[in-house]
Amino acid sequence: MHDIVILGGGSGGYATALRASQLGLSVVLIEQDKLGGTCLHRGCIPTKALLHAAEVADTAREGEAFGVRSTFDGIDMTKVNSYKDGVIGRLYKGLQGLVASRAITYVEGYGQLVAPNTIEVNGERYEGRNIVLATGSFARSIPGLEIAGRVMTSDQALTLDYVPQSVIILGGGVIGVEFASVWRSFGVDVTVIEGLPTLVPAEDASVSKAMERAFRKRGINFKTGVRFQSAAQDDSGVNVTLESGETLRADLLLVAVGRGPRTEGLGYEAQGIAMDRGFVLTNERLATNVPGVFAVGDIVPGLQLAHRGFQQGIFVAEEIAGLAPLAIDETGIPRVTYSEPEIASIGYTEAQAKEKFGDVESYEYNLGGNGKSQILGTAGFIKLVRQKNGPVVGVHMIGSRVGELIGEAQLVYNWEASPEDVTPLIHAHPTQNEAFGEAFLALAGKPLHAHA
Ligand SMILES: Cc1cc2nc3c(=O)[nH]c(=O)nc-3n(C[C@H](O)[C@H](O)[C@H](O)COP(=O)(O)OP(=O)(O)OC[C@H]3O[C@@H](n4cnc5c(N)ncnc54)[C@H](O)[C@@H]3O)c2cc1C
Repeated sequence: MHDIVILGGGSGGYATALRASQLGLSVVLIEQDKLGGTCLHRGCIPTKALLHAAEVADTAREGEAFGVRSTFDGIDMTKVNSYKDGVIGRLYKGLQGLVASRAITYVEGYGQLVAPNTIEVNGERYEGRNIVLATGSFARSIPGLEIAGRVMTSDQALTLDYVPQSVIILGGGVIGVEFASVWRSFGVDVTVIEGLPTLVPAEDASVSKAMERAFRKRGINFKTGVRFQSAAQDDSGVNVTLESGETLRADLLLVAVGRGPRTEGLGYEAQGIAMDRGFVLTNERLATNVPGVFAVGDIVPGLQLAHRGFQQGIFVAEEIAGLAPLAIDETGIPRVTYSEPEIASIGYTEAQAKEKFGDVESYEYNLGGNGKSQILGTAGFIKLVRQKNGPVVGVHMIGSRVGELIGEAQLVYNWEASPEDVTPLIHAHPTQNEAFGEAFLALAGKPLHAHA
């Protein structure tokens, strides 16, 4: 009998294993495919490598504006892929080494929950005083839309060995806009279709609007508030029909309509675990209704992000070890969309904050007044939302590289700091980070490089 048996070696599962082994618990980690899961092999890391290659392409294209003679001669997808795969390979090796260096029994194979405390893999049974379900997610499609050939999800799009001439992207959420951004930088004619009224609809309304402006400027086409009806492919392309009757044609159709929980046929329901539309239900301590069974990562309803999985994994390991960790505040999880421009946010949008707290104040500091942003030639803003005379309850940013600024935002939000608390803290000049200081100063009633 082990202390913990974990099903799934992605962000949530391996974080549980690493923390549990640190705490001296005996751990079994079961993975059918590659340690690291979606994030490392088909998610966060490969997409960000492509986005970096896209940034390099833009830099080459825009060199003249900075007085640097450079030309953009095109994309060699074989080399882009080998750069991307090199990054993944190094991180994969590092992670394998980390797991191997700990007292973790790593089991390769497809596991199923066959009793509330037992997972079976290749006919072998692993019993645990605690079970952690961490089987992750898969790219969803739309009913009737088959993923094949020119109709693909992010899984296939990440392995393309050529640059298409034109692409239609179904879904204007995080994954959709990241691919739109990469392909546009690679010279592709891109059209995003989004059923809701704006791109990145989960973001603060002012950020969604700014994103649309930026995409328009970049020549990325998008149609919002329109619904997809059907798609048909032939030898040379895909025809997409919208409910309005309008048809569009492109080389490829990327389906980026969200990710479903990978829980079917794994024995969860059979063992009496409460589920909702395939997701595993937990309380705030990540315990399911079956004693001793926990769940982490994308199978738990909420934000599907790698760092949420890491934190949940650490939490569950500590919970099992009896450390009684603090429950995770889901609104305190930072969110970054790594397109050009980037979007980064934490806490409540202004509309949500108004609904929750009633009286709120907000302030938008325009990056136009920020020296480093001017140097980079980026536009955008940092928007702070605070409770009237109280703490900052939302931070919303858009602009090149603002993802790197989320660290300060998450400290301020999670420490429930008010602008007055943080204005004495000095920001280095000239950094983009400084824009935070300016926004805090303005909200505290003493703007420096901004109008009141
Ligand atoms: C294109 C894309 C880009 C993304 N970008 C980001 C980003 O920039 N930042 C971010 O935070 N998040 C990003 N994500 C989301 C992130 O990848 C997920 O939130 C994260 O991987 C979830 O971790 P997980 O452990 O829940 O599941 P997964 O990483 O999916 O891992 C689950 C693991 O369980 C294994 N498994 C499943 N069933 C079984 C079984 N029966 N037996 C054995 N093993 C099994 C799977 O093989 C898999 O390895 C992105 C996702 C995608 C698709």
